[in-house]
Amino acid sequence: MTVITLCQKIASKWLLISLNVLVFMTPPTSADPFIPTFEELAPGVWVGIREDNPRNPVMGTATFVISDTGVVVYDGGGLPLFAERVIKKIRSLTDKPVTHVAISHWHGDHNFGIHPYLEAFPNVQVISHKFTHEVFNSKRIRYIDNYGTDTPNYKKTVEGYLETGKDRDGDPLTPAHRKYYQTFIDDADIIHADSQRVKITQPTITFEDKLSIISGNRTIEFLYLGDGNTAGDIVMWLPKDKIVATGDIVVHPVPYLFNVPPRKWAATMANINALGYEILVPGHGDIQRDTSYVDLLIELSNSIADQRDTLLAEGLSEDEAKEKLDFSAFENRFTGGDPYLKIFFEGWAKQPFSSAVFKALKGIPMVEIIPEE
Ligand SMILES: [Zn+2]
Repeated sequence: MTVITLCQKIASKWLLISLNVLVFMTPPTSADPFIPTFEELAPGVWVGIREDNPRNPVMGTATFVISDTGVVVYDGGGLPLFAERVIKKIRSLTDKPVTHVAISHWHGDHNFGIHPYLEAFPNVQVISHKFTHEVFNSKRIRYIDNYGTDTPNYKKTVEGYLETGKDRDGDPLTPAHRKYYQTFIDDADIIHADSQRVKITQPTITFEDKLSIISGNRTIEFLYLGDGNTAGDIVMWLPKDKIVATGDIVVHPVPYLFNVPPRKWAATMANINALGYEILVPGHGDIQRDTSYVDLLIELSNSIADQRDTLLAEGLSEDEAKEKLDFSAFENRFTGGDPYLKIFFEGWAKQPFSSAVFKALKGIPMVEIIPEE
């Protein structure tokens, strides 16, 4: 399943639900799923956002900063084809080389495609948090090995849905389902071909709290502001432009809440707000120009954690408490009542977060790093 393996490896049940969510969500408009839409946020600060977010496969947004001596990239591409298009755009804007590529976090949809930067710019340095480096050297990252077979296998499954007119639960396909599945079939060969090229690009520079790069006339800061989407998320902060790129700590229009510890996530987002940004680039989705969306995420996180604590204090078991967690005050604020977005909210936010909040309470790590033998 390309959608999931590109994003992260999580409980298979929710992967399937997530995929169904994407099916409902997607109004495809392009024949190629890897075409970024570029926008200049401030002079020399650019983003490339994949069209039709969150069309299958999900693809982390690329941000790059052009100085008078070089280019610094944050999340350069989840697949090589996407990265190559970002590189082409960079080359159309400047003859300066890319000097650094930073990885926001270990999930492949943000970094499995970045090796073309090394080929195009041999002196490029790759930056990540120390934790991301540890994951890259553990069994945890080996889901990349399935890239060669995921798409053909899933294509067969989808062809079955279209032939029978029913999904995996035997439910009739809606027109939206049908359109999405057909789009997947249309995209499958190019996805599969590019998936053969993915590889892990090891960082050459790691840090734990803060790394500043002075690139010509610019200062670019990489900050670890606390756990959010993983235990090693770094944000890129441009103090002069008041622009922050957050990776998947912030995802729009509905957050990814797989294994996310609520109190830590809320604290990390408060740290992001405290930067005083004017523009926020999420890991996926629309650019934000005020704190309102992050405020909503903080409110959601605190509400669910508070509910968990109250229910457990009343003597309910974990399973009972999980059933009683109430997201209804939030659902419409994320979805606007859109039935497609509601399914997305269910699969990516409500269901995984309902488990994650209890996991966090027990001190279970977000990701267990299993060393390579
Ligand atoms: Zn992502």
